[in-house]
Amino acid sequence: MRKPIAAMMMLAIVATAYSNITSCTNKTAGSSKDANQSYEISYDLSFDIPEKYIDVDMTYIPTGKRQETVEFKLPVWAPGYYIIIDYPKDLTGFDAKDQNGNPLSWEKKGKNAWVVETADTVHVSYRIFSDFRTVAECRVEESAAFVPGNGVFMHVAGDVNHPVSVGFELPKSWSKISTSLEQIDGRYVAPDFDVLYDSPFLLGNQLVKAYERGGHIYEFALETPQGFEESPMAEDFLKAVDQAVAIFGETPYESYHLLLLGEGRGGLEHQSSQADYTAGHWDFATRAEYLDELMFLTHEYFHNYNVKAIRPIELGPFDYDRENFTTGLWFSEGITCYYESYLLMKAGIISDQEHLDIISDYIRNTQKTEGRLHMSMRESSYDIWLNFFNSNANHSATTISYYVKGPVIGFLLDARIRTMTSGAKSLDDLMKLLYDRFYKDLGRGFTEEEFWAAAEEIAGGDLDMVRHYVDTADEIDYESILTPAGISIDRESWKMGRI
Ligand SMILES: [Zn+2]
Repeated sequence: MRKPIAAMMMLAIVATAYSNITSCTNKTAGSSKDANQSYEISYDLSFDIPEKYIDVDMTYIPTGKRQETVEFKLPVWAPGYYIIIDYPKDLTGFDAKDQNGNPLSWEKKGKNAWVVETADTVHVSYRIFSDFRTVAECRVEESAAFVPGNGVFMHVAGDVNHPVSVGFELPKSWSKISTSLEQIDGRYVAPDFDVLYDSPFLLGNQLVKAYERGGHIYEFALETPQGFEESPMAEDFLKAVDQAVAIFGETPYESYHLLLLGEGRGGLEHQSSQADYTAGHWDFATRAEYLDELMFLTHEYFHNYNVKAIRPIELGPFDYDRENFTTGLWFSEGITCYYESYLLMKAGIISDQEHLDIISDYIRNTQKTEGRLHMSMRESSYDIWLNFFNSNANHSATTISYYVKGPVIGFLLDARIRTMTSGAKSLDDLMKLLYDRFYKDLGRGFTEEEFWAAAEEIAGGDLDMVRHYVDTADEIDYESILTPAGISIDRESWKMGRI
């Protein structure tokens, strides 16, 4: 994901990860399907606009040997949004009935599970309060609804890997549904709940613009489209896409969807889509504001490769009941921040010096954060669950964000690989190797040691000089890496340039 940080440009943040509709490599931890537990499960949603609720009806039909009870679970967090949201706090009015409308007994189990008596057909209903403007929570308004699935759809405990369908009853004034899910006979279908949870919906009267690129459709769904059609945003975004695809030689998606919400903050990557609150318009007053928004969309897009496909092994299968700790978010997020401007530079949208200036901003922000001397990038990654929205008075004195120092490490890693290979290899080659080896061939994430082994394989030698600044909070000796790479840095302004 991407969120604004104290920088000149709205630095972003974006996050997470997991599987792919076609390969489905990323299944939920501990998913052990009981052979007797065969069933059909589907959802129908409607909207209470005045009260800002989503009314949820779930239908569960056991098709094998019927158990006495079934346990339904709602996630407590959303991949990419590294904080415990505790979605069940927004749920009210839980009720269960059989096929004849007779009440079924049920009992709450822990904070996010409901154990329900079974019947030939189980109808479960509940309401989700939807008055939030974050990319991980629901919003229902007169003009539109945004529905990320983690806080809405319950899965059968231990069985995230089960197909599911969703239908909607729209208010009369709404006409469009935007999502990356496939539509069959008027219903949206997902092969499993990992995919459903990673496929948000925008419903309303959004402007929808679709573009073909390299045999794939890129669909922009714009809640507030003012100025978009007159802007080069779509074309520039697709130029950045071209550069990413050139690195990997393929796309990990069939079609790609951008759910561009109204004015607000934050974005969240999904497999085959992204959902972002935006400036609320697309006629930017300055080039810097335009580029910031373009980099924002590029960041979320690049996560299709870096975090959805290339990922630390801890980021999938997901455990939706609790935190999923990893020391690797400096790579998943920091390197993605680096590629925001790198792809635009490769596409010719910004100059090499503008790219260096953007990285210089990250360096300047790193150097003015005292916490850099107290927290490593590994620790910053691991403790994100504590610090995602931490604004304590001692925050900047004791912590450093991987969204700030992470792209600096990415730049140094790229520079070091180029130096060690006399320009024959770059970070692009490492990304391609990780994509091919772990995502495509092994269908899993990488361990920390596997990551560094792959990086050193590309560099042709040890990368201790870079890894040291990931594993420790030691002050970075920039010149030791930048000077051999032909890059200067002014320690007063932290501005870089080509020597
Ligand atoms: Zn991100």
